[in-house]
Amino acid sequence: MGGEEKEYVNKAFDTNWIAPLGPNVNGFEEDLQNYSGVSHAAALTSGTAAIHLALIILGIERGDDVLVSTFTFSGSINPIVYQGATPVMVESEPETWNISPHYLEEAILDRKNKTGKIPKVLILVHLYGMPAKLDELLAVCDKYGVAVIEDAAEALGSTYKGKKLGAFGDLSVYSFNGNKIITTSGGGALLSNNQQWVEKARFLATQARDKAIHYEHSEVGYNYRMSNIVAGIGRGQMKVLDSWVEKRRNVNSFYREIFEEIEGIDFLTEPEEGFFSNYWLTTIYFTNEAKVSRDVLQTALANENIESRPLWKPMHKQPIFEAYPYYGDGLSERLFQNGLCLPSGSNLSSDQLKRIKSVILSTFNK
Ligand SMILES: *Cc1c(COP(=O)(O)O)cnc(C)c1O
Repeated sequence: MGGEEKEYVNKAFDTNWIAPLGPNVNGFEEDLQNYSGVSHAAALTSGTAAIHLALIILGIERGDDVLVSTFTFSGSINPIVYQGATPVMVESEPETWNISPHYLEEAILDRKNKTGKIPKVLILVHLYGMPAKLDELLAVCDKYGVAVIEDAAEALGSTYKGKKLGAFGDLSVYSFNGNKIITTSGGGALLSNNQQWVEKARFLATQARDKAIHYEHSEVGYNYRMSNIVAGIGRGQMKVLDSWVEKRRNVNSFYREIFEEIEGIDFLTEPEEGFFSNYWLTTIYFTNEAKVSRDVLQTALANENIESRPLWKPMHKQPIFEAYPYYGDGLSERLFQNGLCLPSGSNLSSDQLKRIKSVILSTFNK
């Protein structure tokens, strides 16, 4: 927490705004709009809920194809299945570890061949805060008329060519889950420059109540609106977001220095000018030249009560999704086998960093 969160939460109590609406919800939405440069935002219970509503708003139904990165967290893909649609999973490219424009086009063309239809929507993920290759990806989507839901759940504070991630999709998603760069304990947001879509999201998120003095419903609704208490946390967190990004980037530089003398370790790195990552997590890849395996370092850290975690297991290898179509060359499986997320919290103390450093150095015999 940054410090001011409690003031907003107390205000909610003092004014008795304990409900899924109120001044903090409105204020948090404004903060998100101002920060991202997107003109409309709806605060919701989770990022997953935001993706679900985005799919409904774009008309995704049973039998539709939805393109999605395979190298992502399950929250990106579960809502596709809620809608009875088919996730079409697409492999990453090696520079950003995000969805490959080449395999995206291959997937579109092959699905067109097999089903007679071009997939309607792409869920475009920026994993670990690293911007995907947006110019190339949006060009492919434009060419085939594919709408984009930008999953910036891990990438709040990152930019591409000077523009905030979350400002590139037809609809975009942030998450404020407990592990994200800022948190409201749990929460999410859906953003778009299309006002009608965001109004529709608010309508669906509050049980789809038609205008009437009694409860009248002509559509299926959801209980997905963010609470005014939780939004108060979000308002306080927005004040520290940029400094949290700076802290995460400093942690990233700290690890790069440690590994300078150690061969065989690659970092997920901004590939060129224009890519700016919040480095939500610092992630490394153990090449064949590494003297120590990923598992050995992870165990050494765990033995000192230091948490680290393998890179995300790709969705096409998850038991629940493996029957769905996948396009690619298996890169994400290799990332999963040999990659590690290092401790990356914004609040790591210098003592903690020292402790992590000494475990890494001794594991590599340095
Ligand atoms: C966390 C996350 C989500 C889901 O957000 P929740 O707020 O946890 O529902 C979706 N996609 C990605 C890439 C995520 O990291």
